[in-house]
Formats: sequence, C-alpha cells, structure tokens
Amino acid sequence: MGTAGEPTGGAQALAQIADEVRGCTRCPLSERRTHAVPGEGNAISDVLLVGEGPGAREDTTGRPFVGPAGQLLAELLGAIGWRREDVFITNVVKCRPPGNRDPEPAEVAACAPYLDGQERALDAAVVVTLGRHSLQRYLPGARIGAVHGRLRRSYTGQHVFPMYHPAAALHQASLRETLFRDIRGLPAALLGVRRALDDERAASVQAEEAAAPAMDPDAVADDAEQMTLF
Ligand code: URA
Ligand code: SF4
Repeated sequence: MGTAGEPTGGAQALAQIADEVRGCTRCPLSERRTHAVPGEGNAISDVLLVGEGPGAREDTTGRPFVGPAGQLLAELLGAIGWRREDVFITNVVKCRPPGNRDPEPAEVAACAPYLDGQERALDAAVVVTLGRHSLQRYLPGARIGAVHGRLRRSYTGQHVFPMYHPAAALHQASLRETLFRDIRGLPAALLGVRRALDDERAASVQAEEAAAPAMDPDAVADDAEQMTLF
C-alpha cells in the first residue's frame, strides 16, 4: 500500500476520471444529483472497494461512504488495522438514484466506463464488492449468500472478494457479525493474491526466457563450431 509522494500515472488518470464524472450527463441520474461521487482513496492501493451508488449524504458531500453505511465500513476496515485512506473506494454508479432506489441496468451500463477506467488506473490486486450490484458486475449470477467472504476469480481474471453491503447490516443485525468475520479474511486473501501474481509473473518471465534463451557467448561459439561441421 502506498506512500505519499509524486502523483503517479495512476493518480493522474484517477483525477481525470473524477473530473469527467463531475461533469457527466450520460444518464438521467445526472438530473437530480447535487454532487456526483467519483470515489476517493489511495491511488496506489492494492485494494479497490466497489459499492452500489451514492446515498443522501454522499450526494450532499460528493464523497463515497460517508453516511451510516460508511461509518460501519470504517469500523470494518479498522477491525483489520486499515483506514479508508489505505484503499480506494467507489461505486457502480456515481450519481445518487432518487430515494436510494436500485440503479437501473441502463444507468449501470452508462456509468461502467468510469469504473473500467478506475480499475485500469489503479490495477488493484483485489476488488472487494459491497452488495449485489457490485457483485453482479464481477460475478454475474453469483448469489451473495453463497460467495461472500471468499476470494473468487471473475471471468476476466480479476480477484474478487465479495461482501454484503454494510447498509444491509444496518437493517439486519445478524449481518454485522458476518461482515466482521468476512473482512477478517481479507488481509490473508490479499497476501495470497500477491503471491499468486508474483508466481504468474515469474512463470511468464521463465516462459519468455525459454522461448528466447539469453545469448551465452560459449553457446554461441559452440553453435558456430557446429555450423562448420556441415
Ligand atoms: N452506499 C453505497 O453503496 N455507496 C456509498 O457511497 C454510500 C452508501
Ligand atoms: Fe454519468 Fe454515471 Fe452519473 Fe450517470 S451515474 S450521470 S453515467 S456519472
């Protein structure tokens, strides 16, 4: 996880996406928003959290997860020694659906290029989905009750750690414990993904070396000698 310093290419790309989101009118959710909510956090984090869409307080402030669900999210991160500033937090749709209704498929589709861009800019090892709409983007058809709290791989190869939406626990107290249990598995999941990614990189370097062996002067000389042997 990151340290402060010069803005990285990723940070610049994220800032540019945020500017575009703030001026976006690609879907009707732009008409009733007070503020678009692009997302925020550490631009070189290995962990991307994706919620559903801004609620009332997010719409007022322009910041993700700052209402009651955000309070619980901060507690959840605190339980594993992380802070909001260590991760990057955003949503499937960047503007508040009126009355907190579910975002419509056309709105999710219109907004998807921004999340696509954020994923590319951040290149996080793990995507934590918060709730159903976020889960559907990465694991279409998966049921949260069956997949929560365990690492999965999306069909595009992303490492996804599905969780219930923190707001769900505000209505259903039993989910609170589930959320805390699940997030306690996240650091180990992240370590596992980092190791797997390192192994994949090492394997691809080996494969490249096998396909194009480094020039060894002796071997080249041997080859040259053999070539003279008809
Ligand atoms: N719920 C969400 O899904 N996202 C937020 O940003 C806040 C509440
Ligand atoms: Fe644009 Fe997304 Fe807001 Fe719709 S929800 S207006 S696509 S930023």
